[in-house]
Amino acid sequence: MTYALVLNSGSSSIKFQLLDPNAGANDEPLVSGLVERIGEATGAIALTVRGEKITSEVPIPDHSAGLEMAFALMAEHGVGPSDVEITAVGHRVVHGGKVFSAPELISDQVVEMIRDLIPLAPLHNPANIDGIEVARQILPDIPHVAVFDTGFFHDMPPAAALYAINAETAAEHGLRRYGFHGTSHEFVSQQVPDLLGKSADEVNQITLHLGNGASASAIRGGHAIDTSMGLTPLAGLVMGTRCGDIDPGIIFHLYRQGLSIDSIDNLLNRQSGVKGLSGVNDFRALREMIEDGDTDAWSAYNIYIHQLRRFIGSYMISLGRVDAITFTAGVGENASFVREDALAGLDMYGIEIDPGRNGLPNDGPREISTDNSRIKVFVVPTNEELAIAQKATQLAARMQTSVS
Ligand code: AMP
Repeated sequence: MTYALVLNSGSSSIKFQLLDPNAGANDEPLVSGLVERIGEATGAIALTVRGEKITSEVPIPDHSAGLEMAFALMAEHGVGPSDVEITAVGHRVVHGGKVFSAPELISDQVVEMIRDLIPLAPLHNPANIDGIEVARQILPDIPHVAVFDTGFFHDMPPAAALYAINAETAAEHGLRRYGFHGTSHEFVSQQVPDLLGKSADEVNQITLHLGNGASASAIRGGHAIDTSMGLTPLAGLVMGTRCGDIDPGIIFHLYRQGLSIDSIDNLLNRQSGVKGLSGVNDFRALREMIEDGDTDAWSAYNIYIHQLRRFIGSYMISLGRVDAITFTAGVGENASFVREDALAGLDMYGIEIDPGRNGLPNDGPREISTDNSRIKVFVVPTNEELAIAQKATQLAARMQTSVS
């Protein structure tokens, strides 16, 4: 069997999986791991190998050491990079700007192009580059592929992609709606035509990726025509800790009140959203608080649902005809109450949730609407690692064929 290694590098962490790219969306990877607290006094490596959990608490000076240590730990358990055949390494890269529309085989030049995009994703792209450089050094003979979070939205119509900001300034600074979570929206939306028994080009659909980060997309015939995140992943829906769409004037106002740009950034990205309103960002805790009568939690939940319904409504109008609405990611897959409230009272638009189906535990792609519902509602588990593994393996194989 051959495997793909998928890496998602953050500023102080590396998440990775070693998996069979032909596996099913719900299959366990051979290895999943997390190297965390890189550069801090106490670091940790957590691995799950064939279901067995292995942890090691050890200082991790940098990304390079972290990946080396993780590979050594994997080797101790017979699943190191020299124990299994790895045909491709897929790297999640957050921002592909206007340059990258599809996965790209990584060369020195591609790394430089990703580096040029750092101003658009100052928190994410530098960490992604660290991961790429380290992994290329450790595994120099395997093709490395960058898979961009923005790629799926690359061909959005200008009316959805452009902001009504002075055109010269927008062009100079690359200001446009890039969209994020593209790998997830694509992976999930590609399964919907089969669930409907239709071909991809005849399906109009809305996908709702509701995790700690959250985004909505309108997709016509397999192409995204709108999405809720923008230049950055701060825009759109209310999220775990991010505010989503707000009046941009709030930023000037806070700045003029004396808050620094960095503290406003921190406020809107990390201290807002459901957490900023209620104190928690996990929907299980939020629900418990609501059941205990906590009014802040109730208010946070209502603001979250209100914003979600605004996007669903506007995408129904943009698409004209909608065949399916699909929920995915941690909240979308597990929180039946969110799905119910997001689509409550929409019978007149042809949307009817079946409470029995909606209440079933998360177990693979499934319909949760009634048989009469004109618009079908689905839960489709996302698996971004598998999607990246598939894209990386396919591109590596294509390159192999074109070289030989
Ligand atoms: P993700 O970013 O896709 O990993 O989603 C993480 C979020 O999913 C968590 O912060 C929770 O809010 C939510 N979540 C995960 N499991 C459940 C569950 N069983 N019920 C409700 N929410 C859940």
